[in-house]
Amino acid sequence: MPKKRAKARALRRSCGTMAAHMMLLEQHPSFRANQMRLEGTTDRLRSAGLDLLKTRLATIKVVVNVVYKTAEQDISTAQITSQIRALNKDFRATNADKASVPAPWKGFVTDSRLKFKLTKVTRTQTKKASFTHDDGVKKASTGGVPPTSPKKYLNLWVCPLGGGLLGYAQFPGGPSSTDGVVINYKAFGTTGTATAPFNKGRTATHEIGHFFNLRHIWADTPDCSGSDMVPDTPNCAGPNYGKPAWPVITCNNAPHGDMFMNYMDYVDDAAMYMFTAQQVLRMRVALAGPRSGLG
Ligand SMILES: [Zn+2]
Repeated sequence: MPKKRAKARALRRSCGTMAAHMMLLEQHPSFRANQMRLEGTTDRLRSAGLDLLKTRLATIKVVVNVVYKTAEQDISTAQITSQIRALNKDFRATNADKASVPAPWKGFVTDSRLKFKLTKVTRTQTKKASFTHDDGVKKASTGGVPPTSPKKYLNLWVCPLGGGLLGYAQFPGGPSSTDGVVINYKAFGTTGTATAPFNKGRTATHEIGHFFNLRHIWADTPDCSGSDMVPDTPNCAGPNYGKPAWPVITCNNAPHGDMFMNYMDYVDDAAMYMFTAQQVLRMRVALAGPRSGLG
């Protein structure tokens, strides 16, 4: 008789940005002040009505630091360029799946006018089986490699991450020696070791969103009390996972519900496909301020 098997628990997105942020705030008190200053500038420019259509097209130069133990983890250049291609679609809103944005929010989809150019790849063999959100991958003494000119380049580290972590990023205004974005080699790019449901390059899109000062859309609170400081993303209770059916109603946000198809939620790569205008405003203010060396 066929035995009914319990379905294996689906893989869920897990981002270490807030955990990493809390650690850095403890170690670097100026980080908090820098973040508050940036928040003030963002509020001011939002009130002044920054015209996003008039922002210049900015090219962000990218350094990819591959840190590997096994040959499989030493990912190919083709896999790296597949990630850059995915970023250029998502951040310019030329991704084909934006057609799936529900009708009420179609007009919210916004081109950030940021593009990404691969400038350099470094490859470092390590003895470490995996890394976590403690920035070990960013120092030679802990089996990693330091960033290349982090004021000038967006540094991405691609490495094995433990505990189901897909990636984490550092918000603007933090220490230079750890600035950048870390991504699990299994969730990087769209080919090679990239593994479903995280094989459309969107872990990097999400994490680079954090790098340009975006918060999770549920504001990392376990209820409806927090804010992502973005006026055009509805308030929502917590992360959404997998591929939700629209609408998902929480926090009195009926009839349209959570904007779970936003890059800053926790859904699968195939279920996220938009940034809003007010998210783009935050990113552009970060680029004009603490991230101005990048592009
Ligand atoms: Zn995140």
